[in-house]
Amino acid sequence: MPQLHIETPYVESHTLSQKLNKNIWLKLDALQPCGSFKARGMAAACQDFVAKGATSFVSSSGGNAGLAVAWAGRLLKVPVTVVVPESTKQRAKDLIAAEGAKVIVHGESWVEAHGLATQMAQDGGALLHPFENPVTWAGHATIVAEMAQQGAKPDAVVLSVGGGGLLIGVAQGLDNVGWSDVPILAVETEGAASLHGSRIANNHITLDKITTIATTLGAKQVSPTAWELVKSGRATTQLVTDAQTVAACAGFLDDHRILVEPACGAALAAVLNESDFLADKQTIAVIVCGGAGITLDQLNRWNSEFSSLAEKQTY
Ligand SMILES: *Cc1c(COP(=O)(O)O)cnc(C)c1O
Repeated sequence: MPQLHIETPYVESHTLSQKLNKNIWLKLDALQPCGSFKARGMAAACQDFVAKGATSFVSSSGGNAGLAVAWAGRLLKVPVTVVVPESTKQRAKDLIAAEGAKVIVHGESWVEAHGLATQMAQDGGALLHPFENPVTWAGHATIVAEMAQQGAKPDAVVLSVGGGGLLIGVAQGLDNVGWSDVPILAVETEGAASLHGSRIANNHITLDKITTIATTLGAKQVSPTAWELVKSGRATTQLVTDAQTVAACAGFLDDHRILVEPACGAALAAVLNESDFLADKQTIAVIVCGGAGITLDQLNRWNSEFSSLAEKQTY
């Protein structure tokens, strides 16, 4: 089957390199047709399910994973239902519906929506999990296969973590191209620290609640496979604040004219705020994972919210 995602640019950012006195390379997966790297793994999983006979898809993600399934379903001519919780923003529902998918609102949180999606899938639909599927990981791994063809081998890769599917895929991708020696910095915001919290506790923890504007990173528990990567030392973790991610999104828009979600701003923020882990690394690759759940208006609102907070702290 032909691949549905596109090959994205892997380019050195002269602006960021100069700012940080390093070589900062950007893998621009924000440019995927559905707005995020999810195009890779979710489409791969959709195609795998079709090959196994699926005739409909069900997703429980109101975010970029659900949007990617809706997009892939349109291209594959397979009907898609996305069950989203009541908390899902109108814009997200509109984007999913614009791909031709049916949107069902159910339950207070993802857990309830996922419950209904699981039930619905029992009637013959394929259930697309946002991060827990080896086929999805293999799809995400194509990010690194492209990087190896396109540009520099980095001294470290920086990426954002929600449930950990991107982390797992990139780790596998690094192994596939013989770059197993490249360390990975996995970044979360403070209100979504399910992987970082696990590293600190040295135990696979579950968060009680998610308190971040980077809702895309809001998995209460990461995939066991992602936790294993940190436990074994293959990857390490870093936290940034919501204010730092918003500043990073705004800076990235100015420097590169690409608008990304705070979920993606988190990885950029770790680089911009000169994470200790990166101090001795010269060439750094950032996975610019993108995200469709952002508008200029929303970014401006967050920006003024956080700058007025900063003023209050100063005076
Ligand atoms: C899904 C997503 C993430 C997190 O990916 P996981 O595989 O859940 O860790 C980060 N950023 C964006 C934009 C996403 O859509």
